[in-house]
Amino acid sequence: MTISGIGLHTGEPATLRFHPAEGPVRFWLRGVEVRPLASAVVDTSRCTVLGWGGHRLMTVEHLLAALYIRGIWEGLVIEVSGPEVPILDGSAQEWLAALQDFPALGPAPLPLPGAFRVEQGRSSAMAQPSPSFSLLVTILFPHPKIGYQQVACPPVGLPELAKARTFGFLHEVEALRAQGLIRGASLENALVFSQQGYVNVPRMLGEPVYHKALDFLGDLYLAGRPYQGRFVAHRGSHRLHVELARLLE
Ligand SMILES: [Zn+2]
Repeated sequence: MTISGIGLHTGEPATLRFHPAEGPVRFWLRGVEVRPLASAVVDTSRCTVLGWGGHRLMTVEHLLAALYIRGIWEGLVIEVSGPEVPILDGSAQEWLAALQDFPALGPAPLPLPGAFRVEQGRSSAMAQPSPSFSLLVTILFPHPKIGYQQVACPPVGLPELAKARTFGFLHEVEALRAQGLIRGASLENALVFSQQGYVNVPRMLGEPVYHKALDFLGDLYLAGRPYQGRFVAHRGSHRLHVELARLLE
């Protein structure tokens, strides 16, 4: 299975090939293997970036979220050419489809050994012991089409999060481009908001918070194994999600 596309931030083309292989899920780039673990993360400012041996691989979160949803922790090597995982349509649904032939494989979910909480200003992420997995994500944006949104899984199934796209604001585009970011962004791979409304059409009610929950799953994958527990993120960010995953790694 091969998937190609451009990166959201770099605009650079990349190709990923999925190979069945024994052992934990890992990336293979220029002959070097790296496991997607929180300890390998080198940047979280706009996306989650893995780094090793002078190499960087940006925007791993949507692919990792698809691996989380599929329950794939072992049996796969992901060969990468390019600096950034392709953004595709901005969601994780193509990754989910690409992974459907790989079996769910890996350790059974481990009960959380305690409660963990990380925070920054009015944002927080936490994990608490619980007999089953659950996820609650909330966001608050001062925008007439967003405001406060929340999603709870269950009742929402994790695969339902996969079709929610990356979102952004038209008024931020020039500033981000000036920083060398979102060079590959377009209306084909993001839900974009104007000052008062939408620039393109949302796929679902609450698409931004569904996407934030998808990002959370992708970053939680960096703990390296599944955990049974209650996970909550209020106004989360890649930085906070990865800090939480690092406590669990
Ligand atoms: Zn995302």
